[in-house]
Amino acid sequence: MIHKGLVLPLMEEFYTIQGEGFHKGTAAYFLRVGGCDVGCHWCDVKESWNPALHPPTAIENMVTNAFAHSKTVVITGGEPLMYEMGPLTGMLRERGISVHIETSGAYKLTGNWDWICLSPKKTKLPTEEIYEVADELKMIVFNKDDFRFAEEQAAKVNSNCLLYLQPEWSKREKMSPLIVEYVMQNPQWKVSLQTHKYLNIP
Ligand code: SF4
Repeated sequence: MIHKGLVLPLMEEFYTIQGEGFHKGTAAYFLRVGGCDVGCHWCDVKESWNPALHPPTAIENMVTNAFAHSKTVVITGGEPLMYEMGPLTGMLRERGISVHIETSGAYKLTGNWDWICLSPKKTKLPTEEIYEVADELKMIVFNKDDFRFAEEQAAKVNSNCLLYLQPEWSKREKMSPLIVEYVMQNPQWKVSLQTHKYLNIP
């Protein structure tokens, strides 16, 4: 059932405020799917990496819970595109829910999405097809080389894609001033902050 996307290893689900990117400040129901092999050394959800640690959950249950809370669902991970996302996104949209994804893009894009946040990682680059359909490109800045990587990735996305630079949380004091300076010099980019962490909410 997991390979058909009818059951997914669900790490956690919660109703909160989207803290990052274009939709920051907007209430949304989050579904965090376990499983990721992208291997970012600074990852703040390493508990998500092993899918076997998270209970196989019927997507109907996720949809029922989400519908009770919000008209917007963010599917995150882990890396949700390790799974077939067609059934879950289809069921959510049938209920009139706007469906967003947070993905590294490292796996084939499945599912129907109202908003695609692409956050490429050097360790496992996105597939070519996702650049065309990404609504926002969110580049995490851990060190100075990430500005170069951000430009390299921005050159591949479609012309409507919004561009965000976001400091990696543990490096925020060092990198935030550099990001501010960079955005003033390169105003096609915007700053994204993990505002949920400042608000101390999930
Ligand atoms: S892609 Fe996301 S979940 Fe996977 S290792 Fe990187 S930051 Fe963590």
